[in-house]
Amino acid sequence: MEEIEEFGKRLENLLKYGNVRGPKRTIGVTSVSFCSLKAALTTRYDVRFFGEKNKERILGQVLHMGLLGLIKDSWPYLQGDIGDNPEIEKEVSYDLGDGGVLSGKIDLVIGEHVFEFKFLKDWSYEKIPENLDEVDEESVLNAYTEQLNAYLNMLPDAEFGHLWIFRHNELIPWKKLKIKKDSKAFKRFLKRARDIIKLIESMENGELPKDPKPRFGWECRNCIFKSICSK
Ligand code: SF4
Repeated sequence: MEEIEEFGKRLENLLKYGNVRGPKRTIGVTSVSFCSLKAALTTRYDVRFFGEKNKERILGQVLHMGLLGLIKDSWPYLQGDIGDNPEIEKEVSYDLGDGGVLSGKIDLVIGEHVFEFKFLKDWSYEKIPENLDEVDEESVLNAYTEQLNAYLNMLPDAEFGHLWIFRHNELIPWKKLKIKKDSKAFKRFLKRARDIIKLIESMENGELPKDPKPRFGWECRNCIFKSICSK
């Protein structure tokens, strides 16, 4: 009997949602680079930023709007053609299979060039070296380069990644880093995304990870789930 019910459920899911596992799970590119449990909880319970974080988001959007002019002025640096039709906040998605979708919003795409703008407040600027190979394992830069690489691999025509880092409240980029497209790193990223989906499913079955591991040592300090997390 149970088997028939299970079969019926899977069939219903297939007809309704296009896959046997039910509604699609959408994982944000930005959450994959950090603690898997935080990403799973945020996705499962659709937790949004609020309070102080919201102010930062609004500020970030205003700054983004002012950035296009700045990029036009910096175009010789890119040795390309701004006439390529800039697309701001371009939405992208990637099918993870089994009802999972990776999604994201790219700050700016111009032809083969993909830009991400990051506004740093808490991070110690001096810790960012000129050479990306010298970046400390604990640096948030590793998450940013990984995310930009994901976008480069999700967009079929994208080739060149540009990570521009701004100090808080400034419109002139403090660092302009070029990021190479790396398909192997993207495969690892996809695995992390699929693992987060599995984690959500196991949480729905009543299993919580006993020993969650944040990606970076500093993550738990600012995590909104700290009070309910066993870490
Ligand atoms: S408190 Fe730490 S381990 Fe727990 S969900 Fe947050 S970041 Fe992850």
